[in-house]
Amino acid sequence: MSISPRKDGIAAGRLAADQLAQNFTDLHPPLEPHEAHVAADRCYFCHDAPCMEACPTSIDIPLFIRQIATDTPEAAAKTIFEQNILGGMCARVCPTETLCEEVCVREVAEGKPVEIGRLQRYATDRMMAKDVHPFDRAAPTGKRVAVVGAGPAGLACAHRLAMKGHDVVIHDARAKPGGLNEYGIASYKSTDSFAQAEVDWLMRIGGITMKTGSVLGRDVTLEDLSAGYDAVFLGMGLAGVNALGLDGDGREGVADAVDFIAELRQAEDLAALPIGRDVVVIGGGMTAVDAAVQSRLLGAQSVTIAYRRGQDRMAASVYEQELATAKGVRILTNVQPKALHGNGRLEAVEFEYTEDRDGKLTGTGETVVIAADQCFRAIGQTLSGAPEGLEIAGGKIAVTGAGRTSVQGVWAGGDCASGGDDLTVTAVAEGRDAAEDIHATLTGTAG
Ligand code: SF4
Repeated sequence: MSISPRKDGIAAGRLAADQLAQNFTDLHPPLEPHEAHVAADRCYFCHDAPCMEACPTSIDIPLFIRQIATDTPEAAAKTIFEQNILGGMCARVCPTETLCEEVCVREVAEGKPVEIGRLQRYATDRMMAKDVHPFDRAAPTGKRVAVVGAGPAGLACAHRLAMKGHDVVIHDARAKPGGLNEYGIASYKSTDSFAQAEVDWLMRIGGITMKTGSVLGRDVTLEDLSAGYDAVFLGMGLAGVNALGLDGDGREGVADAVDFIAELRQAEDLAALPIGRDVVVIGGGMTAVDAAVQSRLLGAQSVTIAYRRGQDRMAASVYEQELATAKGVRILTNVQPKALHGNGRLEAVEFEYTEDRDGKLTGTGETVVIAADQCFRAIGQTLSGAPEGLEIAGGKIAVTGAGRTSVQGVWAGGDCASGGDDLTVTAVAEGRDAAEDIHATLTGTAG
């Protein structure tokens, strides 16, 4: 990667526009039809398929792959969308290497799984490109449901409810719907405004009203929603971020990785986006990797991910870790931040080495200083602005069963709710399952 011109500090235009465009192209280019057939032909169409068991949304994977193999990709797409209406985005962002593809019998036997994620994208892209929506809305029930949050959980919940004939109003705090799909993942995973196109396509079911810029607690309260609707689903994600707890946390050059990722996703001109020459990202999850890789792609000369435990404990998958190192990101493990140095502006981050003593993370007293003009915090997000009266467990809205909260008539799912992984696909499954439970409750068929 050629970097020109070399600039100190945080600066825009480290790379030429054509280089930036090349850097931010689709991470996994879509399969051509003949490639999809070759990939589908590798599937054994297993009975009791382990891949299906490993999918949080329980997509019938052998069925949709067989439908691709028999040249009916639209039927394959419908099989996917029946379980996961955001199957297009999940095909792009799911860590398939730790879910369906990890347990594929081809992976187990040969070390090379069927490319389930890419096949899923092939099928879903084909249907969406034809601008076809595969489901019809049932006759109106006269019931109204409020959904808070237009991220994966809220959208999946809203779509399933709308399909069943309920009227849904989604309130989302941001200017655009999509939640993490729109604001929280790396640009090279969702190119060509796919997140927006997917929301538009999903809304074609009808019966869903989208209210953006509507903040729970400011513009609307849970009390209002409970009074005005037959049920409420909360899927507002985690809007708070953890601080480093160090002096200088607010110093110029220190920022939250989620804000950087959101700004990048919304940027019209990547060449105008400032980035440091030497960047340090603190954290070990997907957000840390997304921020670090994109820093490199914007032209940062050195990028280091610093994580407090061993590499095997990083929440980012091995695939994501390898992607980072392939892009030139250094991963430094067993270090915890100790000080942010610099006179007004960040100049270096000091870390203390750590070790695991009897299961407890402990500083060794030995330190290392890494030059940095920019530092991104990626040490986790927190629930913020949860309505009063809801039981909280482990910092999230406590739920039982299919997302039932402690308040009657209020369900929750996705990252803001207790239990489950913080994955897009898990959020979709939780939103969908809560919708089924809401429907059963509203129609008096709940068990
Ligand atoms: Fe096909 Fe692999 Fe799933 Fe078996 S485990 S059905 S081979 S994708």
